[in-house]
Amino acid sequence: MASPEIVSTNSEDETFALGERVAAALEPGTFVLLHGDLGAGKTAFVRGMAAGLGANPDDVSSPTFVLIQHYKGRTPLVHVDLYRIESGAAVDDLGLEELASGAVVAVEWAERLPRPVDGVSVTIDDLGNDARRITISVK
Ligand code: ADP
Ligand code: MG
Repeated sequence: MASPEIVSTNSEDETFALGERVAAALEPGTFVLLHGDLGAGKTAFVRGMAAGLGANPDDVSSPTFVLIQHYKGRTPLVHVDLYRIESGAAVDDLGLEELASGAVVAVEWAERLPRPVDGVSVTIDDLGNDARRITISVK
C-alpha cells in the first residue's frame, strides 16, 4: 500500500468497497485506527472490512453500549468503538495486545486510545453530501 493513500468516495457502498479491499490485504495482529466525526463513515468502512475478512458485514453495527465486538471470519475481526469512553476510564483495561492476537482490530475514535498504537490509520473527512475523503497511512 502506498502511504499515504488518499481516496475519494461518493457513497456508503464505495466506502464499504474500500474497507473490503484494505482489509483483504491485512495480516492478523494489525490495528486499523479510524478517525472522523460522527456520521463520517467509520462503521461503513468497518462493515466493508468484515466482508474483506470473510465475516458477515450485516452483523457489524454501531455498538451502543458494547465497547468491543468479535466477528468470525477467515481472519477474525475485532471491532472497538471508543465513542462513549470517558477519558481515563476503562480504556486501560482493553488489553490491546490480547485483542490483536490472531485478529484484525478496527478501532473507531482511535484518538481516544490511552496510548499510541502502530497500525493502519484511516481518516475520513466529510466533504458534504455523500462525498468523503479517506486518507490511509501506515504508522
Ligand atoms: P460513523 O461510524 O463514522 O459515525 P457511519 O458509518 O455509522 O458513520 O454512518 C455514515 C453515514 O453517512 C451513513 O448514514 C451513510 O449512509 C452516510 N454516507 C453518505 N455518503 C457516504 C460515504 N461516501 N461513505 C460512507 N458513508 C456515507
Ligand atoms: Mg460508528
